[in-house]
Amino acid sequence: MTVRELFRKTVRTLRERGIPSPTREARLLLGKLLATSPARLYLFWDQRVPEEDERMLQALVEERLLGVPLQYVLGEWEFFSLPFRLRRGVFIPRVDTEAWVEEAVVLLHFLSGKRKQLVGCDLCCGSGVIGLSCAFFVPGLVLYGVDISEDAVALALENARFLGLEERVTFLVGDLFSPFASRSLTFDVILSNPPYVPVASWEKLEEGIRLYEPREALCGGEDGLEVIRRILREAPRFLREGGFLFIEHDPSQKEAVAELGEKSGLTYVRALRDYTGSIRASVLQLGRERECEFSSDATTPAFT
Ligand code: GLN
Repeated sequence: MTVRELFRKTVRTLRERGIPSPTREARLLLGKLLATSPARLYLFWDQRVPEEDERMLQALVEERLLGVPLQYVLGEWEFFSLPFRLRRGVFIPRVDTEAWVEEAVVLLHFLSGKRKQLVGCDLCCGSGVIGLSCAFFVPGLVLYGVDISEDAVALALENARFLGLEERVTFLVGDLFSPFASRSLTFDVILSNPPYVPVASWEKLEEGIRLYEPREALCGGEDGLEVIRRILREAPRFLREGGFLFIEHDPSQKEAVAELGEKSGLTYVRALRDYTGSIRASVLQLGRERECEFSSDATTPAFT
């Protein structure tokens, strides 16, 4: 069979079995098989596929048809234009997060010109996408990542090496800030995509997510705010004066985040929207330094 024939056959199979974007998925799966990007597939169009490779693709397609999320079948997923390895049992990065990470990168660049040494923390780091993207694009950043899952931390470390960032990043297993309590470490910026889905909403998520993604990475208790509450309570102890906390949450949780943050002595700086226009994250600050100000209604940060 040629690549073209195998591609068409794969699209057909995926479509018949109700996979929502069969063409896109087939392109990604064949791209993986041929170790090329989906956009370059056509270069191989008339090439014959060895039977062994055909069988390998068949195995991937079958996994997908069982309901395994595509990201796990591929074992690699792009985030913020960077390649990340991914495995079952570790949270799948969402495009919603990229939108606010972009703003964090801009802020970090601004701060790196102002502060001697810039230290950041990615709390609930999962595969490490948030912290590693920031470290990749902000050369002065020293980054710590924490996750309660050993699998996640091992994967984040692999990703750090994969991106050549291992000298500036440290990943630790622990419950939120616990690994830092004895190190007297404080941060210029804390970034977090904690679990925030209420139990009742989690139960309604699609089966592939419920079966294969770790519940603890998504589910934030009864009201979804259990972990967020703890982060907002503990963050001031681990932020430097003027330090920032970027925290992802459900659009409906913005008021709660602002209130909990202010109760804990943090200033609510601004809400950040995802690409659908929903408020998906908030920025809070310990104290309020003049050197850097996010205006509350800007779509991009304004520094004064
Ligand atoms: N955005 C994810 C979802 O709604 C949840 C992410 C999270 O809990 N951190 O599926």
